[in-house]
Amino acid sequence: MGRRRQLYEGKAKILFEGPEPGTLVQYFKDDASAGNGAKKGIITGKGVLNNRISEHLMLRLHDIGIPTHFIRRLNMREQLIREVEIIPLEVVVRNVAAGSLSKRLGIQEGTRLPRPIIEFYYKNDALNDPMVSEEHITAFGWACPHDMEDIVALSMRINDFLCGLFMGIGIILVDFKLEYGRLFEGDNMRIVLADEISPDNCRLWDAKTSEKLDKDRFRKDMGKVEEAYQEVAMRLGILPEATNSDMKGPEVMQ
Ligand code: C5P
Repeated sequence: MGRRRQLYEGKAKILFEGPEPGTLVQYFKDDASAGNGAKKGIITGKGVLNNRISEHLMLRLHDIGIPTHFIRRLNMREQLIREVEIIPLEVVVRNVAAGSLSKRLGIQEGTRLPRPIIEFYYKNDALNDPMVSEEHITAFGWACPHDMEDIVALSMRINDFLCGLFMGIGIILVDFKLEYGRLFEGDNMRIVLADEISPDNCRLWDAKTSEKLDKDRFRKDMGKVEEAYQEVAMRLGILPEATNSDMKGPEVMQ
């Protein structure tokens, strides 16, 4: 493969120019970070697993009519995606109290919420991704009320579907973070699901033991991080073609 133009490097992924206009290549790194980059590390094989897990979940969501940026997986660490204009929001959906919700409101971790709760955070590292309301979002023009209607409706459907999918493999979907983008096709614009869905941005607890099977193991130095991601992939029936010995996958080509 020839040299490709790198467009953006984030904490866990790199975006390259795609083979055709309107497409990008999303490369999944093994780099892990927590606390807005305060803690950094490598989770060997994470990129390979997240590429597969996110592919699987995006395809299942596509099957139920959720529009996504995903086109197809290219190799162990890369997927082809549609280029979208990212809406600068992190949309968090919660079913069970954990993390910042427990901390902020003093609700004991593990308490089932009376109904799913959606929260919005403004994507801005310099400001530490502050929580914002729809008032801020529409007043500052990050998204219009119509975009927000779509985002809330899509997030609720995604939550319903993923809760069932994970429950079927003995996992509770505690909470997760979504990102959306605007896809322009001629005169039309559609809001589509973007980024990734993986144990990096979901809290996943074993339904029987409440064992954490997600990035909290890294955030809290609990150990067995790779094993947790592998367990999720295994239960989804999608362990990569790689064996453990070649989980490193190819290095990034630029
Ligand atoms: O930390 P907090 O409890 O607000 O996180 C809620 C959910 O959003 C968790 O599943 C976490 O993994 C995810 N999240 C994320 N990226 C962030 C913040 C939170 O993926 N920047």
